[in-house]
Amino acid sequence: MTEAFSAPRAEVVIDLAAIRHNVALLAGKAAESGAATMAVVKGDGYGHGAVPVARAALAAGATWLGGCSLAESLALREAGITAPILSWLDTPDVDFAPGIAAGIDITASSRQELARIVKAASATGSRARVHLKIDTGLCRNGCPNYEWPALVTNAVEAAKMGVLDVVAIWSHFACADELGHPSIESQAKRFDDAYQVARDAGLSPLRHLANSAATLTRPEFHYDLVRTGIAIYGLNPVPTDDDLRPAMTFRSAVVLLKRVRSGEAVSYGQTWTAQRDTTLALVPAGYADGVPRTLSGRMSVWLDGRRRPVVGRVCMDQLVVDCGDHEPAIGAEVVLFGQGTLGEPTAREWADTLGTIDYEIVTGMYRPRVARCYVGGAWEECA
Ligand SMILES: *Cc1c(COP(=O)(O)O)cnc(C)c1O
Repeated sequence: MTEAFSAPRAEVVIDLAAIRHNVALLAGKAAESGAATMAVVKGDGYGHGAVPVARAALAAGATWLGGCSLAESLALREAGITAPILSWLDTPDVDFAPGIAAGIDITASSRQELARIVKAASATGSRARVHLKIDTGLCRNGCPNYEWPALVTNAVEAAKMGVLDVVAIWSHFACADELGHPSIESQAKRFDDAYQVARDAGLSPLRHLANSAATLTRPEFHYDLVRTGIAIYGLNPVPTDDDLRPAMTFRSAVVLLKRVRSGEAVSYGQTWTAQRDTTLALVPAGYADGVPRTLSGRMSVWLDGRRRPVVGRVCMDQLVVDCGDHEPAIGAEVVLFGQGTLGEPTAREWADTLGTIDYEIVTGMYRPRVARCYVGGAWEECA
């Protein structure tokens, strides 16, 4: 991907071979502890495209998929995917009936939610597949401890009526990416206690707790199923040396070149002034395309085999690269971030500069003006 290309002005290239590689690595770790692997594809596959990622993940050893909302989960079914799919967060006006009819696993975090599932299941005449979520210390969704025994009792009653099956109980870590954080143990302990309540009520559900970080570092908490998100995209939330390969490359191209004299200033606010005569390359990507304006003066791009600084402010639609005395071709590829193997910037580097996490960078690339294409699949559709 170094020669000139005829492609959209800003484009993310998704390497499905990298996704398959990452999923195989994670599923291998999970299998060592007897656990299955869920590929989490919420947020349109963390900005990578939920359906192509889901297919790649299933081909590489994942057997479950996770979408946050019912709509995201149904979109996977509608694409013809038959694997189990778990959804876990919807607004109170969402009708679960289409999800139940499509065999989507649905999470109940409260008795109210369970009652809505029961009602929808009764209306469709199919048994709902339910995962009961216990809040073990994240204090987000999930059922609080004080309501858990009642939620379990209601679920057992509904199961006896033939309205639903309790497929699993589950929870989510707050600090699994902080190795040795005491909350990891205490959440696992609360999880085990909640499981015991379910067992005492006569249930024998699956258990799942681990996200990517726990999958990579805490095999004792893999239970029956791990829910891996960020790591399948090749971004490692923990400082391990696992061979994860970033799947997303964000690229654009040089559209205009100009030679400017020493003393000329660049872009809005004229925040950067050339200290010598230099060649500037214009790149048609800006903050409407996912290049944060706050990276102005703090980023570089990979162009013609080396990093070159972006100078002046990042605008809505364009940015300017200082090429010194080098003259790139019009149409030369400009990599804004990629795998990092050549020395190009990475999503992690952007995140570190901005004080955020790489999850936000890649998920933020889901934008109407940014094209998305795939390599490493059964088909190649990138220019
Ligand atoms: C997003 C999410 C995951 C995946 O987390 P990663 O840190 O990306 O692996 C797992 N479980 C739940 C409930 C989630 O919301």
